[in-house]
Amino acid sequence: MQYRFRGGVHPLTFKSLASDKLIKRSFIPKRVVLPLSQHTGSPAQAVVSVGDRVNVGDLVAKPSGHISAAVHASIAGKITKIAHFPTYNQARVLSIVIEPEGGEDQDFKPKPDRNIDPIPKEEFLGIIRDAGVVGLGGAGFPADVKLSPPANKPVDTVILNGAECEPYLTCDHRLMLEKTQEILTGLDIIVKILGAKHAYIAIEKNKLSAIYAMEKALKLNSLERRAGPGRLGSVKPKLIALDEKYPQGAEKQIIKVILNRIVPAGGLPMDVGCVANNVGTAYAIYEAVYFGKPLFERAITITGSCVREPVNTWVRMGTMLSDMKDIFGGFTKEPKKIIMGGPMMGFAQYSMDTPISKGVSGVVFLTEEEIDAHKESVCIRCGRCVDACPIGLVPTTLMYRVKGENFPEAKSLGIANCYECGACAYICPAKIPLLDYMKFGKAKIQTI
Ligand code: SF4
Ligand code: SF4
Repeated sequence: MQYRFRGGVHPLTFKSLASDKLIKRSFIPKRVVLPLSQHTGSPAQAVVSVGDRVNVGDLVAKPSGHISAAVHASIAGKITKIAHFPTYNQARVLSIVIEPEGGEDQDFKPKPDRNIDPIPKEEFLGIIRDAGVVGLGGAGFPADVKLSPPANKPVDTVILNGAECEPYLTCDHRLMLEKTQEILTGLDIIVKILGAKHAYIAIEKNKLSAIYAMEKALKLNSLERRAGPGRLGSVKPKLIALDEKYPQGAEKQIIKVILNRIVPAGGLPMDVGCVANNVGTAYAIYEAVYFGKPLFERAITITGSCVREPVNTWVRMGTMLSDMKDIFGGFTKEPKKIIMGGPMMGFAQYSMDTPISKGVSGVVFLTEEEIDAHKESVCIRCGRCVDACPIGLVPTTLMYRVKGENFPEAKSLGIANCYECGACAYICPAKIPLLDYMKFGKAKIQTI
């Protein structure tokens, strides 16, 4: 069976810059800035004050509502400030600053590996919520909320998303190679919580080594797959090798490709009986459940042709990008553009004084030559944006409606369904910033 979807684009991936680099151990920066909003939903609420001392993994902010996520100290030290700081998506967010004073133990003390077989699902959800686990694919939706659908929306299928279709990024690829069994155990936990009957592991064909690693791990029986208490689930996941195409890894897209189910506009995957989780999230769930480890670090990729040593690395949340130059050896050439996240859906940065947070899967540095700096010209009605849109929108028409401030019509033409993949803007020969028009139009229709 072929797993394809309509639309999409084939950008050069540049993944070979970092795909063979082992994930480095995280380093301890001279301070961390922890935004209280690193997730979808209401910001967390600080439970510490300036002057308090914290250890690695201590709770520093608790969830403030149903859709919210806890924040934990990523280094040991003293709280030196609680103030507003810029984040990677250009918001200014109340953040907690921790500075090490020297001499502190900067390692997390994991709880002893425990037998989780008898643990009821409600307890799993509590552990995941307490650990502040959110979706690490970018959106940052609290994992415990995603894994607790209401009774009228039963979930029969779980998709483990290892597509990593954004160009340049390779941390998920490396994680699948280096933490294969742990990720599968995370998937088992997810399946158990949801009571799902089917599970899929979806990986793009440009990550053949990860496909091979997963295939091999799936063949092992439960006790061989993981030393200790063994697997939980009785569901055998099916491995799907996806054709290489952007935006294959977008949640709604991967659900459509694998299950042929369409998540309604404004809806969630649980509306169509499905939950999709990034491989990094599955790993974070595994660590939270087995070792009580909160989400205070994550794997990211730092890459670009001007980066002296493109790397995959664990990074403590709140580490400032400006403190990480030693990790990637600085630049061979001055970058012109810094993007946090992938180049298609990520956010351009004005400076390197931005903290890494839960939603940041990578940092891409681009040179002047790599930036498409051609000036915008008029639409030549080539229709490429229409062909590229994976959900069948007509970006050129929407662009004209937004330009003409005809927001009601943009709304009726379905602009709310746009999930901002950027495929239309990427393919447009007239260099029209279609994605910017989509974002602006979507924001405007909220007000009518
Ligand atoms: S209109 Fe939206 S969903 Fe369609 S290609 Fe453009 S950004 Fe992607
Ligand atoms: S791709 Fe660009 S030039 Fe072509 S129809 Fe769309 S907006 Fe117009």
